[in-house]
Amino acid sequence: MFHWLRQFFRKFALQMNKKSMINIVLFGPPGSGKGTQAELLVKKYNILHISTGDLFRYEMGNNTPLGLKAKEYMAKGELVPDEVTIGMLKNKVNDNPDVTGIIFDGFPRTIRQAEALDSFLAEKGTEVTNLIALDVPEEELVVRLLKRGEASGRADDKDESIIRNRIHVYQSETKQVFDYYDTKGKSSLIFGVGTIDEIFNRITSVID
Ligand code: ADP
Repeated sequence: MFHWLRQFFRKFALQMNKKSMINIVLFGPPGSGKGTQAELLVKKYNILHISTGDLFRYEMGNNTPLGLKAKEYMAKGELVPDEVTIGMLKNKVNDNPDVTGIIFDGFPRTIRQAEALDSFLAEKGTEVTNLIALDVPEEELVVRLLKRGEASGRADDKDESIIRNRIHVYQSETKQVFDYYDTKGKSSLIFGVGTIDEIFNRITSVID
């Protein structure tokens, strides 16, 4: 009897903890500053940062089958197919069962990815808390990405036509994810031009 009760309360506590997870979708076009802000958020809230772009680059660097597959798409500035991306994302979340929250950076980028994320988190007794979108004018994005390309050597940041294609893909395939979470009352648009600290303060005032 006591054993049963203990089990029950343990499960209950686990469930409460999951409900109180902070799960933030950091959203915005390429070059809008998601990676920079994600690093600061990780420090402040002590949560896990998952960047699908970084995961793909890691796989590519190791020439894994997944990396080779992703490379064809990334080199053109296209999206990697949903089934590949969703599977990779789920593995990463499942590898970190004890975290108190997650920042999703670069995911979801399609409605199908958003639906998959919602049902995946629901199975775990949790959900997306907020979507925070960084709003930056296109010409500013191009300048930032070309500069990043010079410094990092990232292939998809070097060629202006690939950069413009990624921004176009964002407008045509990804932007709708903002509306998807907006109808659930979860989306906020933040002006993404200013100092890093100014933008960070805008973001945390939404989360807190
Ligand atoms: P950025 O947001 O600056 O374009 P990322 O590092 O987030 O850069 O992503 C780089 C590339 O990785 C994308 O152009 C795309 O090819 C691929 N990628 C990243 N996340 C996803 C995703 N959720 N779905 C499909 N492809 C993705």
